[in-house]
Amino acid sequence: MVKIDEKLEPILNEVIRRNAGEPEFHQAVREVMESLGRVVAKHPRYADNALIERICEPERQIIFRIPWVDDQGQVQINRGFRVQFNSALGPYKGGIRFHPSVNVGIIKFLGFEQCFKNALTGMPIGGGKGGSDFNPRGRSDGEIMRFCQSFMTELYRHLGEYTDVPAGDIGVGGREIGYMFGQYKRLTNRYEAGVLTGKALFYGGSRARKEATGYGATYFVERMLATRGLNFEGRKAVVSGSGNVAIYTMEKILEFGGRIVACSDSAGYVVDDDGIDLDLVKEIKEVRRGRIAEYARERKQARYVEKGSIWDVPCDVAMPSATQNELTGKDAETLVKNGVIAVGEGANMPSTPDAVRIFQDAGVLFAPGKAANAGGVATSALEMQQNASRDSWTFEQTETRLATIMRGIHDRCAATAEEFGAPGDYVLGANIAGFVRVAEAMDALGVI
Ligand code: NDP
Repeated sequence: MVKIDEKLEPILNEVIRRNAGEPEFHQAVREVMESLGRVVAKHPRYADNALIERICEPERQIIFRIPWVDDQGQVQINRGFRVQFNSALGPYKGGIRFHPSVNVGIIKFLGFEQCFKNALTGMPIGGGKGGSDFNPRGRSDGEIMRFCQSFMTELYRHLGEYTDVPAGDIGVGGREIGYMFGQYKRLTNRYEAGVLTGKALFYGGSRARKEATGYGATYFVERMLATRGLNFEGRKAVVSGSGNVAIYTMEKILEFGGRIVACSDSAGYVVDDDGIDLDLVKEIKEVRRGRIAEYARERKQARYVEKGSIWDVPCDVAMPSATQNELTGKDAETLVKNGVIAVGEGANMPSTPDAVRIFQDAGVLFAPGKAANAGGVATSALEMQQNASRDSWTFEQTETRLATIMRGIHDRCAATAEEFGAPGDYVLGANIAGFVRVAEAMDALGVI
């Protein structure tokens, strides 16, 4: 473990004490603290007025009951969360996750990371995150709709285009956003398009929002590869997951001339040495809402591996795009042994701290999620802009903005790492650049 600066260690200890039993939140805060030592050494004023303590404490945390009726007429109860972390830069902004593993610690880690990520985009958005321990798998459309309506029946009073603007995340895509928006509109009697992002195009959505996180992560990695005179052309890539982020990461890698050899879902992974057929993955995941195992049944040369790690598949570029802590130290050692040259996190915190250290020690280019996957939220902010001006941009216009934003984030992280004496360390660069923007805004607004 990296040693924490002596001014910051008591702050981290207090976060751990106050938020007992929330290991993912501790992990996310620790990682930022590891980077901030260099900032407080250079600019001690950032440690004044309990600024760092305030950054680690969410402004508001909402936990609520979600009762709903399933197709058998049984009443089900889930728990809902919204952590409104920091609004110094703008309204809280961050996705909603529906997954059985969701708890307050996971939402807090995601909300904390979101503050720095949103700051890195340079756009006027604060940080927040929400979700529920609801498991959408195997649920009918009617059940999903009733659940989303019940979720919004409590949450709507905490939202607003100037207050808090959720979007999708694991288990929440266009269908769920539609049901939530419908309920918000009904409860408030307002057509407030800018209150949710990730909407379908015909009621205020943005072109390229669906593609944005995956495309953005790939733009980031492309830029990072270019710092060593490399590119995606002819390179083998492994992308974990087969959801929204993974699918559009694969699409952009293919466009850049790379070859995808493996992808996965939570039950297993498929390897296709001829290159993953993305149309088939989309058909299975987006149309049928099926399992990735079906891919191997339909492509003779592909194989499905039910147990084991997707990171055993040799590749040049690895893009973990499923969930937190899915890539361990052991996986990182295997990837390094197999000659990986770049790792770009499409998911939030998918690499464990050990894995990050192994990549960095081996000189592998490593892009942390809070920088690499910021394209989704950046395009959400573009969706808010279009809603505010009652406008709708073309796909090309939106994607061009996204590409410019991602290259800007890359360059900001690289320049900050260099300025703070750690060239090529994108983790440090992202943490410091994001922190400084949030801290400056908080400082300007006084002790609130
Ligand atoms: P989706 O629900 O569309 O897809 C998630 C994928 O990851 C699925 O293939 C799912 O498999 C797999 N997965 C989920 N949980 C686990 C688990 N516990 N173990 C193994 N595999 C798992 O979500 P997204 O693609 O939207 O999100 C993926 C990651 O990207 C998350 O970390 C999210 O926070 C992050 N992210 C998403 C953004 C977005 O715009 N959507 C923006 C920025 C970050 P299965 O179907 O079997 O559950």
